[in-house]
Amino acid sequence: MFLTISTSGTAALPATDLGFLLHKHPDNAQRFSTSYGTAHVFYPEADAERCTAALLLEVDTVALVRRGKGKGKGKGRGGAPDAALAQYVNDRPYAASSLLAVALSGVFSSALRGVCNARPERAAAPLPLRIEIPALPARGGPELVRRLFEPLGWAVTVEPVALDTEFPQWGASRYVRLVLESEALTLAEALRHLYVLLPVLDDAKHYWVASDEVDKLLRAGEGWLPRHPEQKLITSRYLSRRWSLTRQAMERLELVRLAEADDSEVEAIDNAVEEETETEERPAPLAVQRREAIVAALSASGAARVLDLGCGQGQLVQELLRDVRFTEIVGVDVSMRALTIASRRLKLDRMGERQASRVQLFQGSLAYTDNRLKGYDAAVLSEVVEHLDLPRLPALEYAVFGHARPRTVLVTTPNVEYNVRWETLPAGHVRHGDHRFEWTREEFRAWAAAVAERYGYGTEFVPVGPDDPEVGPPTQMAVFHRNDTEKEAKAA
Ligand code: SAH
Repeated sequence: MFLTISTSGTAALPATDLGFLLHKHPDNAQRFSTSYGTAHVFYPEADAERCTAALLLEVDTVALVRRGKGKGKGKGRGGAPDAALAQYVNDRPYAASSLLAVALSGVFSSALRGVCNARPERAAAPLPLRIEIPALPARGGPELVRRLFEPLGWAVTVEPVALDTEFPQWGASRYVRLVLESEALTLAEALRHLYVLLPVLDDAKHYWVASDEVDKLLRAGEGWLPRHPEQKLITSRYLSRRWSLTRQAMERLELVRLAEADDSEVEAIDNAVEEETETEERPAPLAVQRREAIVAALSASGAARVLDLGCGQGQLVQELLRDVRFTEIVGVDVSMRALTIASRRLKLDRMGERQASRVQLFQGSLAYTDNRLKGYDAAVLSEVVEHLDLPRLPALEYAVFGHARPRTVLVTTPNVEYNVRWETLPAGHVRHGDHRFEWTREEFRAWAAAVAERYGYGTEFVPVGPDDPEVGPPTQMAVFHRNDTEKEAKAA
């Protein structure tokens, strides 16, 4: 197993600095014993213009078998004879593979982490790199090799290796000769790409994949894996297709991706969502007017502890947090993705302790009763009811008005009559693909009256947005007050 790393340089920036970056002096040939054999590091060429470091791994197949970490295939004694033989006679000694990746991380561990006290500025900077691997097992062929390396900024030359050069008619083996070239990457990035992608291409890990492999993968994949188009294939193969680990890694990568997304990206998501949600109006978008109306109604009710049910991406929670009258704000949504974006928006991880103690986000479905929702002053259902199928609505009504029973409940929903005023909305269409229904003012009032009657609440209706004399406002809001509190208030 063999790979070379070359760089070029000038008198001012000599190529031999590669020796500092790899923490291996170009004048010495060095040996390192690893658990699977001996790794040699030497420099076939080393001057100011060009410097090449070679890593050669001599695998001790006997040691490999003795360690008992062969990948489940015939553990020697008791196995089929040819399986036992395959442990000794296989391609391990010749081909780059997961073993080479392990050697790479062992021999060049500081370089992999980008640590170089002697030349820190060079370790941090991209440099011209050429990496050659003469025999790389590549399950998926040259095409997959390209799909893995090209998105990372490598110019890729990949040639299938003939099964036997004397018999070209036998066709290609599963090996390729790979040359990677780039001027845009640091050495640490390059090594981390190899560390992850060599075993992915080999697709036959020689050792048992334990759960700490997820950590190793995410660490080595930092900065590139979360955005790699083949992220799923890489993750799944790296983790030897252990589905539970793969899923765990994919979820963590998604969180990393969202955490890396800067505020402008969150804004962009917002804008897309808001555009999707409704056609906007100048000057204040309807979503803003709706939040203002909700905050005003909450303040009027004197609520301090508030539930935002179906909080989506957390815009209202953020607004409520700015107002000290709201001492406790809880956002609930069924969508984990929405909650992740909400926590990113609120910067929950960077929030001071006092602020953090006022806010909570959790996942839950409003179609089920939930004791965590009990004991609050008010609950908001902003643009949520129309996302439930009508037959499921009574379950939500019971969960909120019958079980959680806050003193005040605010419900907003589109007024379908107003849709004729949206110039861009084709006649007869709802405002959002996920709306299961949209109500007229009369339908909404009838629904609210029935719920209020059943659960002992009184209702008021508030228009949100311009109240058109003919078709009414774009958004309609019902404010429910629990009847027994009115009695309590009178008694007090
Ligand atoms: N309240 C926000 C988001 C409205 S979009 C706003 O006014 O902008 C509707 C939200 O309700 C979505 O985030 C969706 O995930 C959530 N939702 C839909 N059905 C739900 C259910 N059964 N339980 C909890 N949340 C639900």
